[in-house]
Amino acid sequence: MATPLSHLAVPLALALALGGDIVPPGLMALALACAVLPDLDALGLWLGIPYAHPFGHRGFTHSLPFAVALAGAGTVLAPALGSDPLTVFGVLLVSAASHGLIDAMTNGGLGIAFFSPFSQRRSFLPWRVIEVSPLRPSALFSRHGFAVLRSEMRWVWLPCLVLALLGIGLRGLAGR
Ligand SMILES: [Zn+2]
Repeated sequence: MATPLSHLAVPLALALALGGDIVPPGLMALALACAVLPDLDALGLWLGIPYAHPFGHRGFTHSLPFAVALAGAGTVLAPALGSDPLTVFGVLLVSAASHGLIDAMTNGGLGIAFFSPFSQRRSFLPWRVIEVSPLRPSALFSRHGFAVLRSEMRWVWLPCLVLALLGIGLRGLAGR
């Protein structure tokens, strides 16, 4: 996995790029939750669910069908969030699906079951440039931990910052 903190970069960038009119605070909060939720499967490791099991780490909750289901369920909250269902679906889908895609760029662990439950085949993206994060958060406070954070700064936060600034710039040009 990447560190949970870095999974927040995508919804944050999305909210900044699109602006508060399209992504109000409630929707942003839900998007942040959707971006880290897939790692709940790491709890399974403590419950004895093997890593490679369909419900093991990087299994079903990291898949694209799970992201679609999560985003679809989120649309029920659209009126309460002050947004339209299509926007809620799109923002939550990108946030949830980005989790597996970021993990698929790490250089350790098993691959992502992108199409679970239809296929349990696990794979990575061709660019495995992100230093894999240790599963124990305390292990981040080490030389390897700093290497992980540096790698996530470069490959997750920096591109997200560029996208956010691009969106803010384009909205400025459009006068919104
Ligand atoms: Zn993960």
